Amino acid sequence: MATIPTVARLQPFASTIFAEMTELAVRHGAVNLGQGFPDSDGPAGMLDVARQAIADGFNQYPPGRGVPALRQAIATDRARRYGTHYDPDSQILVTVGATEAIAATILGLVEPGQDVVLIEPYYDSYAAAIALAGARRRTARLVPDGDGFTLDLDSLRAAITPNTRMLLVNSPHNPTGAVLSRADLTAIADLAIEHDLYVMADEAYEHLAFDGHEHISLSTLPGMFDRTIVISSAAKTFSVTGWKIGWACAPAPLLDAVLAAKQFLTFVGGGPFQPAVAYALDNEQQWVAALRDTLAEKRLRLSAALTEAGFGVKRSDGTYFVCADITPLGATDAYDFCRELPARLGVAAVPVSVFADDKASWNRLVRFTFCKKEATIAEGVRRLRAAHTAPASS
Ligand code: PMP
Ligand code: GLN
Repeated sequence: MATIPTVARLQPFASTIFAEMTELAVRHGAVNLGQGFPDSDGPAGMLDVARQAIADGFNQYPPGRGVPALRQAIATDRARRYGTHYDPDSQILVTVGATEAIAATILGLVEPGQDVVLIEPYYDSYAAAIALAGARRRTARLVPDGDGFTLDLDSLRAAITPNTRMLLVNSPHNPTGAVLSRADLTAIADLAIEHDLYVMADEAYEHLAFDGHEHISLSTLPGMFDRTIVISSAAKTFSVTGWKIGWACAPAPLLDAVLAAKQFLTFVGGGPFQPAVAYALDNEQQWVAALRDTLAEKRLRLSAALTEAGFGVKRSDGTYFVCADITPLGATDAYDFCRELPARLGVAAVPVSVFADDKASWNRLVRFTFCKKEATIAEGVRRLRAAHTAPASS
């Protein structure tokens, strides 16, 4: 009997950084600015619809592709905001969070041994899903650009080979908070078309671009609709990360491949939450706009506090996250820094190096989330003020 029973391809993914840092936060009574989940609820009307759905007996398997009202609401929403037209019956699939959509997209469209190109730092589930599919990952990278980040186009060109089947692109970007520019997205689109690649566009933070930065869906660029699988989720848009209602939108042949995998992962999920998310997409866009404004403000407050505490703060243009360099604090390893932080200062954060294969290039950055209540952020900020007084052992 092998000492580690986990299959070899999943051994590198034994535990997620979010579980690890949240566990440390709980153990030390730390303010959790690590895992990105809000500590306040989504729109009250949406919560009422979910309660009512349960009371009305909407508690059995929903249809395989998702309840029709939700697929229609997703189609209407995307047509209104992006001008793209997805047929709710054949081009939209409701999934168990964006996470399942990501896994099913790769499992359904990439053969074992084919390459998938990621842009690092990248969301952690991408690498695990690629491993589940028996595919191989290659990485391009973001690079510093002023106080923010931009795509290193040469690294993307170099990562693509004749064996590449799919590109994974996330904007607004977790963990950096970068919103990719039209120029970067156009360059990605040009390469995808030149090499005839599928593109998975992870738009989980599509509503959370700040300061007038425009979120551009890759699916809207010329030549991209037919090769792009757009993935999004109710989690971040309506502050319901525990509901796990996500979706994939793509032309029917691509979506059929995603469905082929999805139906044997979970078949369906979240029955009573689906009508509630449909209601929210149709009726709560103003709530979402207010959430965006509030988050933009909290981002400024947390960024200013981190600067005051001595971190080298990067610009966040969207998402739940801001990244900060620990070098000015005399620390050199973000992972060690984050492992110590809950006990040392009573705050939890996440090292950016866990989102990268080239860990050395990203081991000075720590990701903090500002998706928490005013009081939670204020307490985190108060505790972080002591960051420079007790240098990390790293
Ligand atoms: N993609 C990105 C970039 C994320 O940050 C997250 C976490 N919200 C997900 C996908 C997963 O989303 P969900 O919680 O809907 O599964
Ligand atoms: N997406 C959230 C984050 O990046 C949390 C995801 C998770 O806990 N798996 O913090």
